[in-house]
Amino acid sequence: MNELVTTRIRATAQRLGLTHLPEQLDAFARRAEEASMGYLDFLDLVLDEEAAHRDERRFRSALRLSKLPHHKTLDDFDFSFQPELDPRRVKDLASLSFVEDKGNAALLGPPGVGKTHIAVALAVAACRAGFSVYFTTLDDMVRKLKSADTIGRLAGTLRTYTRPNVLVVDEIGYQPLDRAEANLVFQLISKRYEKGSIILTSNKSFGEWGQVFGDEVLATAILDRLLHHCEVITINGSSYRLRNRLAALQENEQVA
Ligand code: ADP
Ligand code: MG
Repeated sequence: MNELVTTRIRATAQRLGLTHLPEQLDAFARRAEEASMGYLDFLDLVLDEEAAHRDERRFRSALRLSKLPHHKTLDDFDFSFQPELDPRRVKDLASLSFVEDKGNAALLGPPGVGKTHIAVALAVAACRAGFSVYFTTLDDMVRKLKSADTIGRLAGTLRTYTRPNVLVVDEIGYQPLDRAEANLVFQLISKRYEKGSIILTSNKSFGEWGQVFGDEVLATAILDRLLHHCEVITINGSSYRLRNRLAALQENEQVA
């Protein structure tokens, strides 16, 4: 290829913020020659690859910013292990229409049934679809809001949790909160209400949230906003973490 032209293409690509084209220029030209591509097909190839590269970069960056504990997806989830869980309901959630509608999703159930796994899988799908995501446990969020409050920085820290399109609040109910802590959670939930989605997980039924938040009135106010637009999935099953131990126990029982 004419050196002058390739140099100019690289410079123009850089000006336009096209990062993939300069790297792939020689490869693109080779592919076009080998396939005797038409002009339109060639342009289509270049633009399509640039767009795919940009989407992938945006996805990686969203994943990094999300602070998700891992990046498991629904493909990694063995639905046969939870026969009472309807895969269609979970896959419907993964279409993310609740995120588009700024609604919420709640995953309830005992430890080890895959609540965090599914919450993360939905969050990964949201990153892929171009939404911003932030993951936190309830305890971590409360601790950060509290310490921000004591130094007069509550508004700024609240923004960390209100800004993303999707906030994942994991492990509601593991530690009970006092009233001041519950109040901070209420402020956050009110600010996000109908503005952005929350995906939450809890080992407590909503009826037990009064104990979690140390105050029935506050818990009701929080639930009122959370549940107004909320898909609720309850997983009643056994712990995937304990599956090998359970299988061993059952085998022992059979032997005995
Ligand atoms: P929970 O949040 O309900 O306590 P997790 O989602 O953390 O449970 O699941 C515990 C571990 O087991 C994780 O490593 C998760 O990926 C895995 N896991 C849970 N359920 C399944 C499943 N049905 N198929 C595959 N892995 C699962
Ligand atoms: Mg969990």
